[in-house]
Amino acid sequence: MRKFKVAVLKGDGIGPEIVDATLRVLDTVGEIFGVEFEYAEGLIGGVAIDETGDPLPDETLKLCKESDAVLLGAVGGPKWDDLPTDKRPEKGLLRIRKELDLYANLRPAKVWEPLIDSSPLKPEVVRGTDMLVVRELTSGIYYGEPRGIFNENGKRVGVNTMKYSEDEIRRVVRKAFEIALKRKKKLTSVDKANVLEVSGLWREVVEEESKNYPGVELEHLYVDNCAMQIVRRPSTFDVIVTGNIFGDILSDEAGVVVGSLGMLPSASVGDRYALYEPVHGSAPDIAGKGVANPIATILSAAMMLKYSFGMDEAAELVEKSIEETLKEGYRTPDIYSEGCKKVGTDEMTERIISNLRRLSS
Ligand code: NAD
Repeated sequence: MRKFKVAVLKGDGIGPEIVDATLRVLDTVGEIFGVEFEYAEGLIGGVAIDETGDPLPDETLKLCKESDAVLLGAVGGPKWDDLPTDKRPEKGLLRIRKELDLYANLRPAKVWEPLIDSSPLKPEVVRGTDMLVVRELTSGIYYGEPRGIFNENGKRVGVNTMKYSEDEIRRVVRKAFEIALKRKKKLTSVDKANVLEVSGLWREVVEEESKNYPGVELEHLYVDNCAMQIVRRPSTFDVIVTGNIFGDILSDEAGVVVGSLGMLPSASVGDRYALYEPVHGSAPDIAGKGVANPIATILSAAMMLKYSFGMDEAAELVEKSIEETLKEGYRTPDIYSEGCKKVGTDEMTERIISNLRRLSS
């Protein structure tokens, strides 16, 4: 039997509830596909601070490096808000991404037909939208030197530097081409090459790499135009690849186009390691109440099946089971609308699991 080791970092707030729900779904996938998932838990975020004084203890990092993939809930909460920035739970997240060299952040934005009315766009505009933003995560303007606030002729100037080496561009662009090959084979590269030299280099490298992927249709868009097209014609996009700051903004925009925060998964991947987590935070306002929507985390696990374990069919089955459950009218409170059946985390998970079994038989 094939066996995969998953490092499980539940974190804070609703983290434990949504991760436990997701592990139940993964166990069912394992039964259906004859695969064994072995889970090993590690501490991260506020709970890690409480137990060890460190938001990312060394043992957790070691565990992640020894595993085939990492599944994370969420970190943070009011209890730790007064700590200095470098001691806060969120620091654990930033460090784990850096330590594991997770240079590509994958953010899918898919419209679920049963939830189409929760999009701020008209149904006819948003229908069929299924895009994935691949954002470079470990370089660009958020990391470039020089940076700081300096004194120039007696006046303060603020400086940041957008810098990319061709290797940094090439590895994330390759990742995006590979992902496009597994999807609708269309890649949109986003830059600001009409103004920025760094974007000129970005575009050159994308063109060079596209020769290795003749099966993928490539388009270039300037970032301002792309921001407009995402709301005008979201359903025409497949994979979008872009640098750190542009990706930060565009992935949030794409997420909002399709509706609820509780439905958005993500992955951060490098050459050796990969971490899967929902886009939302630890939702301290609803923690422990049994009402958190587990779908974003379950969808993150579906991405893990696809991108880390090559289990594309299993990933599709999970997505289909979620779609069926929504079609049957089950909703956690965050996505509830009149006429639907309001359920908590447990029942939503059970409904998804029973659809998994039904659709696989
Ligand atoms: P949040 O995403 O936790 O919550 C925003 C709102 O959405 C809340 O009303 C919450 O109840 C709701 N919500 C979020 N996820 C939900 C789900 N699965 N089901 C139902 N409702 C859901 O953002 P916030 O309130 O700004 O931050 C809370 C804490 O989470 C903070 O400490 C913040 O730093 C942290 N945070 C962590 C991450 C992460 O771990 N990746 C990301 C964002 C924020």
